[in-house]
Amino acid sequence: MAVDIVPLAQICRSVGGEWVEVEVLVPPGASPHSYELSSDQMKSLERADLLVLVGLGLIPWEEEIFTKIGREGLPLIEAGQQIPAGELIPAGEEHAGDKTGEHGEEGSHGDYDPHVWLDPILAEYIVEAVRDGLSRVDPEHASAYRDNAASFLEELATLHAEIARRTASFSRREFIAFHSSWNYFARRYGLLQVGVIEERPGKEPSAGEIAELVELARERKVRAVFAEEQFSSRAAEAVAEESGGEVRVWKLDPLGDLGHPEKGDYCGLMRYNLSIMEEALR
Ligand SMILES: [Zn+2]
Repeated sequence: MAVDIVPLAQICRSVGGEWVEVEVLVPPGASPHSYELSSDQMKSLERADLLVLVGLGLIPWEEEIFTKIGREGLPLIEAGQQIPAGELIPAGEEHAGDKTGEHGEEGSHGDYDPHVWLDPILAEYIVEAVRDGLSRVDPEHASAYRDNAASFLEELATLHAEIARRTASFSRREFIAFHSSWNYFARRYGLLQVGVIEERPGKEPSAGEIAELVELARERKVRAVFAEEQFSSRAAEAVAEESGGEVRVWKLDPLGDLGHPEKGDYCGLMRYNLSIMEEALR
């Protein structure tokens, strides 16, 4: 099976266990917003028996993928489609109805913010869909998928309780993000993304926009800017510098790496980011 990003591969591995081989299309270090498939990857998709994508416009090629590989019938799970629309955050919107930013543009990724995997409660929908999808393409191992999914859902419940407990003791709740990655996480755990550096990943802010963010940070007493490992933190550093030392840059990783000792599985990836946020917002 093939998946677009590492966190979905982590979920698929947890559910599929020894019965699945997961190929990740967007390699560690790359951004799903801009990564183009190689011709080898196109070839390997010709052999895949199941494709799992986040959807919601996360990757630019997800609409054309089937025509490109000539496999209209390849079974597909789109995570975004599994989540009730009422749970999705409209793209380009800060959660909690906080309209301090001046983002006049249309949504950066489509109609809804695609970063759904960073909310462990929404991840439950993805786990169930992967369990059902694997059971359909490989009915022989359906009971294994059911058992694995059940124990992984328990792990997610434990993870959620831990994040809820640890975030509740943060002494600050506001942050500025590189882009909207942490919107769902913030909504779930009562944190506030008061602004973003790049409304569309890859669209660098102007000097004026940086000055606005510095002002916003001052008004809202924001001390943390969350940069991301997949992108340059130059603009985030500029905000921190211009704030006169009030604001610090912290690097989060919304994507992880299957080979990494801490961020190799989904719960590890979430705890890795949680620890950095804890340090940044205490
Ligand atoms: Zn993103």
